[in-house]
Amino acid sequence: MSKLTQVEGHSLKEKQAADTGTGISTAGQPVSSGKLEHVFPSYARFDISLVKGKGSWVWDDKGNKYLDFTSGLAVTSLGHAPEKVGEKLKAQIDTLWHVSNLFHNPGQDKVAELLTANTCADQVFFCNSGAESNEAAIKLARRYHQKVKGTGRYEVITFKQSFHGRTLATLTATGQDKVKDGFLPLPQGFVTVPLHDLPALEAAIGENTAAIMLEMVLAEGGVLEVQPEFLNSVVELCKKHGLLLIVDEVQTGMGRTGKLFAHQYYGIEPDIFTVAKGIASGFPAGVMLAKGYLREAFTPGSHATTFGGTPLATAVIAATIETMLEDNLPQRAAESGEYLTGLLKEKLADCPFVVDIRGKGLLIGIECQAPVSDIVLAGQSKGLLFVTAGTHVIRLLPNLYVSKEEINQAVDILSELIHTYANEHKA
Ligand SMILES: *Cc1c(COP(=O)(O)O)cnc(C)c1O
Repeated sequence: MSKLTQVEGHSLKEKQAADTGTGISTAGQPVSSGKLEHVFPSYARFDISLVKGKGSWVWDDKGNKYLDFTSGLAVTSLGHAPEKVGEKLKAQIDTLWHVSNLFHNPGQDKVAELLTANTCADQVFFCNSGAESNEAAIKLARRYHQKVKGTGRYEVITFKQSFHGRTLATLTATGQDKVKDGFLPLPQGFVTVPLHDLPALEAAIGENTAAIMLEMVLAEGGVLEVQPEFLNSVVELCKKHGLLLIVDEVQTGMGRTGKLFAHQYYGIEPDIFTVAKGIASGFPAGVMLAKGYLREAFTPGSHATTFGGTPLATAVIAATIETMLEDNLPQRAAESGEYLTGLLKEKLADCPFVVDIRGKGLLIGIECQAPVSDIVLAGQSKGLLFVTAGTHVIRLLPNLYVSKEEINQAVDILSELIHTYANEHKA
């Protein structure tokens, strides 16, 4: 019976393969076409297959070597395949992978201790991504107002050009129309106002407002730093109206900007902040952190996720944080960022095509007069990987151990590329 089903399944697959003419060999084995024909085309991918990484470098399937200034979008902050973290991961693989959150897990206690000892937060919720940590933050804000304060408030104010994720709630919170296209109807309870527009922000606050959510540096939105005076006004407004302040540190967190968390630059204490990307060196994980008075809002059964904070995940998160603290990596990121930004300013000073060079630590943007996607492709052929932030901004995200020599190498390539492109653009 089972044999027959297998045979039938097999022939069906072969029939489909014959229909489309791709994907299955005559022996019935899947063959990789390298074109991801059976993967949704929701990503516009570069024509490079990366197969190996070490430190600041990655290799493609043809053996080409690239200097990686993307870090998997601010994820591999310790560089590729960091040994200390890898050792802890391997040891945990031989010990225990998953138990569910029905049981205690000493790994969660360890990570929560590390995070709360080094921040203003007292409570941690474990999840698996940036979007999920923002979902948790939005849910916590609503539940606090509705169950603890009894006010029934639910609305979250966010800012134009922000990015908060791709779930329905977090894409609604995101201040960019392109992520909402074709996904109507959007959930209720979100208002978006222009960044640095205090009158608009004040006008948006109403009886249903529960929280204000923002990034300290709008990374996807063009590497735009929030102005300190504006941030102070946001904090004041939260106090005045009883709103929770949510800081999205998914990209700016874990040492990227030169402090463990970017909000620590401004002397503010968010009620809630969210972390993911750089927290586990590439292992998928996120956390939401909050002040102690929010603890009672998340009573047993109120929020949950199967994979949040597994023994495997917490072993990797703990190893990542411990390595960062031991090696004083945020400080190193601050210094390297200053060196990199300084060098870029020096080499590009004579180039009017470059509008602005800005950033914090090793989250750096080079704003240009024209779209920069061709410069990104040209960089790949010169062996340097970097990304954009919006259409006109080159975004650099090297790992936090990046060396001076690697920075010099990257700036030489970038400077030549940008000068060449600027000349061609003029002609
Ligand atoms: C990447 C990012 C997210 C979403 O994180 P995912 O892990 O992709 O869900 C949210 N906020 C910011 C600021 C980000 O950079």
